[in-house]
Amino acid sequence: MNPKETSIVKVAIDVPIDDFFDYQCEENVAFGQAVLVPFGSRKVIGIVVEIDSSTELEAHQIKKIIRVDDDILLNEELFKLFKFVSSYYHYPIGQTIHIAVPSNLKKTEKVLNKKSYIYEATDLLNKSAIDQISARKKNLIEIAKVIFKEKQTDEALKTISINWKKYVKELITLNFVREREYQKTKIIQKTTALKLNQEQSEIYEKIIAAQGFEAFLIYGITGSGKTEVYMHLIEQYVKNNGQVLILVPEINLTPQLEDRFTSRFSNYLVISLHSQLTQKKRLENWEQAKNGKAQIIIGTRLSVFTPFKNLKAIIMDEEQDLSFKQHDKLRYHARDVAMMRAKLLNIPFIAGSATPSIEIWHRSVNENKLLLHKLSIRAVKDATLPKINLIKDETNLENEGISEYVISAIKHHLSLHQQILIFINRRGYAPVLFCSSCGWYASCSRCSSKLVVHRSKQHLRCHHCDYQRGIDSSCKVCGNVDLMSLGSGTQKVEERIRKLFPKAQVRRVDRDTIKTKASLDALYQDMSDKKIDILVGTQMLSKGHDFPNLSLVVVLDSDNALYSSDFRASERLFSQLVQVAGRAGRGSIPGEVIIQTNFPEHPLYQSVKNQDYESFASEEINLRKELNFPPFCFQAVLRAESKNKKNVENFINHVYSMAKQINTEDVEVFHPVQPFLDRLKGFERYQIYYHSKNRSSLNKFLNFLKVEIHANKQLNKVKWYLDIDPVDF
Ligand code: ADP
Ligand code: ZN
Ligand code: ZN
Repeated sequence: MNPKETSIVKVAIDVPIDDFFDYQCEENVAFGQAVLVPFGSRKVIGIVVEIDSSTELEAHQIKKIIRVDDDILLNEELFKLFKFVSSYYHYPIGQTIHIAVPSNLKKTEKVLNKKSYIYEATDLLNKSAIDQISARKKNLIEIAKVIFKEKQTDEALKTISINWKKYVKELITLNFVREREYQKTKIIQKTTALKLNQEQSEIYEKIIAAQGFEAFLIYGITGSGKTEVYMHLIEQYVKNNGQVLILVPEINLTPQLEDRFTSRFSNYLVISLHSQLTQKKRLENWEQAKNGKAQIIIGTRLSVFTPFKNLKAIIMDEEQDLSFKQHDKLRYHARDVAMMRAKLLNIPFIAGSATPSIEIWHRSVNENKLLLHKLSIRAVKDATLPKINLIKDETNLENEGISEYVISAIKHHLSLHQQILIFINRRGYAPVLFCSSCGWYASCSRCSSKLVVHRSKQHLRCHHCDYQRGIDSSCKVCGNVDLMSLGSGTQKVEERIRKLFPKAQVRRVDRDTIKTKASLDALYQDMSDKKIDILVGTQMLSKGHDFPNLSLVVVLDSDNALYSSDFRASERLFSQLVQVAGRAGRGSIPGEVIIQTNFPEHPLYQSVKNQDYESFASEEINLRKELNFPPFCFQAVLRAESKNKKNVENFINHVYSMAKQINTEDVEVFHPVQPFLDRLKGFERYQIYYHSKNRSSLNKFLNFLKVEIHANKQLNKVKWYLDIDPVDF
């Protein structure tokens, strides 16, 4: 056939080449439609991005589309967004477009929908039955234990082991477990809107009056009723089939939050989009967002790329949260993408936080790019901000990191039958296994990091690559058998607290004990049922939830961040402390916070004590201005890694001299350096920072540099990528 008579279409394919691909098509296709195409020796699903196109390929070079699917995966609005995102973050366009498409739509073989199951214990499953399982079958035991504790869904079991099916089958054969088909039905009580207070209504009125794109920042102390404001806004936006996207941090998307929206908006479909959904559920929700059936969509960062039918506003809660920035592949920041999307759709963007990021604060206060609104009092009647005490850390090895002051405060709150949260941002037992006679410590063989002692599983673990091994019984250098577990993590604090308060119900909460949203849900239930007196946990606990009976928060060991070389470390520490302090006194019981530190006079702790975000932020901004750091410059970093140190050194030096030769006055090229972890998962790492006052100069410069690197075949032996507006060192 003569290719001139059939149509040529351009197709976006999920490959690392920054271009579209031409195919010949003999059927009718629409923009955004999924097609199966030959690509090299493979067949892949692509997305049509141009119809009736022309091609520079010769007739014999052009291949035919194999199959046209019904699914429309892209619309013009998203296409514009993806083009911007791809060029801004220097990520290939095809891969960018494919980023948020549910993978089950991209199967080259069509699959059937699967059912969901729930697994529950039979009468035969009990403690002694579990004890009789061979100790070698660790996964089998773990799965038996969790099912024994409470019934589990297939989704939950999946997170324990990828071979969960095999183990569950074995348990079913043993008659320990039975399987039931499962349908999610949850009875949720209806709630009605609260009457907004003065501050809340002022904000509400301003935002609802917005015509088209406008950006707002709600700076409201913890518990000031930001969520209530969002809900009042949503009520307006969803009228006439409107949709609202609510972006929340990974850790905040708990069933409670969903329930809070579901119960308020019982006449509308509320859905969530996050990484813990099954593929089937994710696809179902994605479709409902796309066809407009779901009107309230609560999602984590990736949901910013969801297709919508009639989006009226984007709300981003806890704007400062680190999980909004993606750390691999397409390294986007959901906040900036969301603002761009709101602009393209000409709808309002509303960010909320008790401790906004310094960037956003600067853009609001000094540049007027977002309209700033403040909520300065707690919304619940009589609730006040907790009093924060800074206590000099006078602990020694004997009292193992918990001071007398803290111990007596815990006693006092226990005697009042109130709940206590002890916050330590390090999981495991101790961060270092140390030999006091020669100074040796256990380190990871694949990363430049120390191994963390885990008591509960009796092993050492690398928190960067998850390498694990048994705990050394003697020093590898001098043979000393008296090794010390230095410092403390959640497990050590838990152990100590149990010893000190044997009658109290103590629960540890960290990534080792909480693996699924369901287990987090159960924890919140136990808290509200008062089955827990003392919670010991990491930042997993620092956000999002109301524990009305929680009156004391203790912060241990947060000084580390003061020594960090990362210029954002103090911003993060401030935010974390304010968040965790905000857990106390949410109800009508007054709250108390104790921060145990070696530096009670440090200005950062002083501003936390005074709960004075604004003066902290203005100090930070002055400092950044002096140092010429973001937000006073735009930053990008090129990172490279290789198993071979020589290769990566050659590469980085070469790139450095290439960059130096690119003629630009606007871009400052820094010397290559090794990141904080100079070796990770066996890879040696280097990076080069680029700064510019001018975003588009920086972008042009990077485009130029990319071309040069790609042109130099010899350089392409190492893995490298660009990270735009990086947030980690
Ligand atoms: P934030 O999101 O700022 O942390 P929330 O919206 O979760 O705050 O509100 C904190 C608490 O205050 C919740 O228990 C909420 O029900 C209550 N609340 C919020 N607004 C009001 C109001 N206008 N009147 C009474 N209680 C309110
Ligand atoms: Zn030694
Ligand atoms: Zn490691």
